Amino acid sequence: MPTIIATWPFGRLAAETGLARIARGDAALDAALAGAQAVEDDTTSRTSVGFGSLPDRIGRLTLDACVMDGRTLSCGAVAGLEHVRHPAAVARRVMEKTPHVFLVGEGAKWFALQEGFPLEYPYTVAAMREWEEKNPARRPPVPKKDGPAQMADIDEHNHDTVTVLAHDQKGNLGGVCTTSGLAYKLPGRVGDSPIIGAGLYVDDQAGAAGATGVGEEIIRIGGSLFVVEQMRAGKTPQEACELACRRVNAAAARRGVHPAQVAFLALDPRGNHGAACTQRANFVYAVGRDGRVEMVRAREVPPTA
Ligand code: ASP
Repeated sequence: MPTIIATWPFGRLAAETGLARIARGDAALDAALAGAQAVEDDTTSRTSVGFGSLPDRIGRLTLDACVMDGRTLSCGAVAGLEHVRHPAAVARRVMEKTPHVFLVGEGAKWFALQEGFPLEYPYTVAAMREWEEKNPARRPPVPKKDGPAQMADIDEHNHDTVTVLAHDQKGNLGGVCTTSGLAYKLPGRVGDSPIIGAGLYVDDQAGAAGATGVGEEIIRIGGSLFVVEQMRAGKTPQEACELACRRVNAAAARRGVHPAQVAFLALDPRGNHGAACTQRANFVYAVGRDGRVEMVRAREVPPTA
């Protein structure tokens, strides 16, 4: 059944926007991109996707995004993109207009301008006021540590990504992931979100998966590709997401740290969905199908499971 799923409460806007596009016969990737872009454009409900997001330690807002088409395995990505409002749309142009998959920093900006994306000022008063109050530039560049480095100042209030997965009327899958990454990240830090196989992976022959949460832990286990490969091997989307969370938990145990907040969501080639998160991630996602959108709470996988 045509279905669209999207991360976090702001995923409702993505799912509503994308569902309308699926209903009129649009391809899965078009629907997912329209949904993701609606969240990028909305500066009221979040501080971690698109303009108005919280900046890095030195006060610069850089955006990361990727897209993937499950029919052809075509994909594109950008990271560290500044002053361009729609990173997911730029990622799609990378996919369509270049022989490459991934452009970063100044190169990604140069490409976006060549493609006609306007140069814009991305900062809202609210985001910069918060940055000034917390004054992260005064913190040491690398968090102090005893044992493995941990990101002590990262909690559920200063990250979140919109990841949108869609299954269209023809049965094809498409996905988009877009974020500003972790608030007050070190300049140059890139998380899982723009990395094909980490923040997103889509293959019509196996399923689609996306991630949100502390990107370092998602990259460490090759998160979204892992979920898709579990579905290829016969697991349901729910089982596959839970297995990925177990991997995250096990990886944390091997480093002697508590598992970070991470969540996965997935769609199989028939449009069945599932999601799971590590403890205290409090992950909810929007599910759009049959003309309506509802919010679903993901199952938590505790460290010992
Ligand atoms: N995964 C994103 C990152 O690490 C952040 C998030 O989804 O909360 O950049």
